[in-house]
Amino acid sequence: MRNELSLLIKPAGALCDLGCSYCFYRRIAADRDTAPGVMQDETAETLLERVLSLRPAALSIAFQGGEPTLAGLSWYRRFLQNIAEKNTAKIPVNLSIQTNGMHINDDWARLFKEHGFLVGLSLDGDKATNDRFRLDKNGNSVYECTLAAAELLNKHGVEFNILSVLTNESAYEIERTYADFKRRGFRFLQFIPFVDEGTGQSLTSEAYTFFLKRCFDLWYADFQKGDYISIRHIDNYIRILLGEPPENCAMCGVCGRYYVIEADGSVYPCDFYCKDTYRLGTVFDPAPFDESETHRTFLTDSCRIHASCAACKYAALCRGGCRRDRTDELTKNKYCEAYRAFFDYALERMLTVARSLPEGEGKGSE
Ligand code: SF4
Ligand code: SF4
Ligand code: SF4
Repeated sequence: MRNELSLLIKPAGALCDLGCSYCFYRRIAADRDTAPGVMQDETAETLLERVLSLRPAALSIAFQGGEPTLAGLSWYRRFLQNIAEKNTAKIPVNLSIQTNGMHINDDWARLFKEHGFLVGLSLDGDKATNDRFRLDKNGNSVYECTLAAAELLNKHGVEFNILSVLTNESAYEIERTYADFKRRGFRFLQFIPFVDEGTGQSLTSEAYTFFLKRCFDLWYADFQKGDYISIRHIDNYIRILLGEPPENCAMCGVCGRYYVIEADGSVYPCDFYCKDTYRLGTVFDPAPFDESETHRTFLTDSCRIHASCAACKYAALCRGGCRRDRTDELTKNKYCEAYRAFFDYALERMLTVARSLPEGEGKGSE
């Protein structure tokens, strides 16, 4: 038996009905040597057989894309039915899905509720912020449609969080975004820096510094009033200060052991590295989840530590950040200055929060 196994499955590959100009996965898929399409039943069944035969202590399955709902509701029903039939060892299975919300209707919401999905809904802020990059392929706003999806999820009692991409514009709009999300009752938030070397428009360290500080101020003011808004990066810092492991692999210091499964069955080590060079094999291989040389190298590369990190007073908290943000032989994080400035600014207050929580009660994101 092995420990928990985490899979990120892309049932519809990079297919998506939106045309967000910052979409990194569309660019990754375009450079790859694989045909687009929805995952065949045979691929899904083989994947499940391989995974369940490993008898992990728990199985975490996140569906992502592109837009994973484009595989269709019946695809998910068959997949879930397959789990129910094949999981004779009763391995606990946690399900989540990341969606742009365009196709969410009562049927989808019922399925999510029935199977306990945690849903991540992509929304960058209010209409002006969301419409800057998140548009359909004809350049039309999808803002109202995303809000309608949130309403449906609420109506059916589905747990969901909001995922926002941080750009050089939206980072400076955090006050407005935070107020808007709160007003709408969105209390579980995650902000992901936009990093794409291909466009040269990645979030700058200056913009990230502004965001980290201002976001923390807003969060802390609410915390002091007894109003805890869950913001994933802050929750994880508090966890680390409480001596608990972060749940976000980007904050662990080394790449996490999770696997991405593309629609054609290809296996990759990380969503940001679904490229031919990092392909670990396919679910049709006899043992696709056994450690390979490619995977070992990927993981050990992430363990390299820059001299400034080794000597840094914030090393235990920061851990050098996500490998995809590292330059200089994969050691120096491009957001180092932002992290340092943020810790200088907020560490005392984060410690105050951590001390005020009962042991083992790091809050928020799962
Ligand atoms: S919704 Fe997601 S997958 Fe689709 S274009 Fe936008 S960023 Fe890309
Ligand atoms: S590159 Fe970042 S997101 Fe990917 S596995 Fe490594 S730490 Fe996690
Ligand atoms: S703040 Fe900079 S030097 Fe310190 S651990 Fe983080 S990336 Fe390394």
